[in-house]
Amino acid sequence: MAYIQFLGAAGTVTGSKHLLNVSGDGTGKTGTQILIDCGIFQGKKEWRERNWQDVPIAAHEIECLILTHAHLDHCGWIPRLVKQGFRGPVYATPSTIDLCSIILPDSGHLQEEDAAFHNKFKTSKHDPALPLYTLEEAQECLQYFKPVDFGVVKQVSPDVSFRFVHAAHILGSSMAEVTVNGSQSKRLLFTGDIGRVHDQHTAPGKVVYSGPQPGEMADVLVMESTYGNRNHPKTDPRPELATIIRKPSNAVEASSSPPSLWSAPRSSYSC
Ligand SMILES: [Zn+2]
Repeated sequence: MAYIQFLGAAGTVTGSKHLLNVSGDGTGKTGTQILIDCGIFQGKKEWRERNWQDVPIAAHEIECLILTHAHLDHCGWIPRLVKQGFRGPVYATPSTIDLCSIILPDSGHLQEEDAAFHNKFKTSKHDPALPLYTLEEAQECLQYFKPVDFGVVKQVSPDVSFRFVHAAHILGSSMAEVTVNGSQSKRLLFTGDIGRVHDQHTAPGKVVYSGPQPGEMADVLVMESTYGNRNHPKTDPRPELATIIRKPSNAVEASSSPPSLWSAPRSSYSC
């Protein structure tokens, strides 16, 4: 028997954390606990405040974390999970690990900047305002990352294995296909964010397929649906992006207004 508890990306599009419990007694508290993604909540304050809440079980009881990709709303809470006692492996593709080694310390730096801003200008009800985690704590959590290549079946407990499937979303992005063995074997597919693979002919170099191959199937599909209600344009977006990058007003603004430590707190957004 397997149970899934959605700790984020439910009712909002950030904070992806899916807790998979297998071989338990039916309460969801016993048995093997596996976390798929560990994202930070972004956006409105009511959601960001959830970043300060604990996960519903002791963090050290989580066997492992399977990470689909390196956007902060899927990985940005990992330093906090480690801070709470998680010491298991964080399985991710090699490219996802490379990206996380850059953006997680940067996220810690931003957390520290935000706290310093609030303490200087007394703009927080907390005194002192604290960072969710620091740059140093983000660097320390990287020791738990373990690379797993696409297509390789990784056994994470006697009754659970998984493999990464291409998602074509960002560099290294994957779907996690989790197999739970027991009296009845079940295959669960966590898509993470899904790329625009069918438009790949407009962007040479992209992954040419994503998701399971013809003939493969899953018993349970957990799918991101952030952009499920809109159609992407079929045209190549790169010329439009190049125009925005080269826009003279951006260049003037960038050169005349260097970022200040004491400017308004920045936030990182991803999708
Ligand atoms: Zn994403």
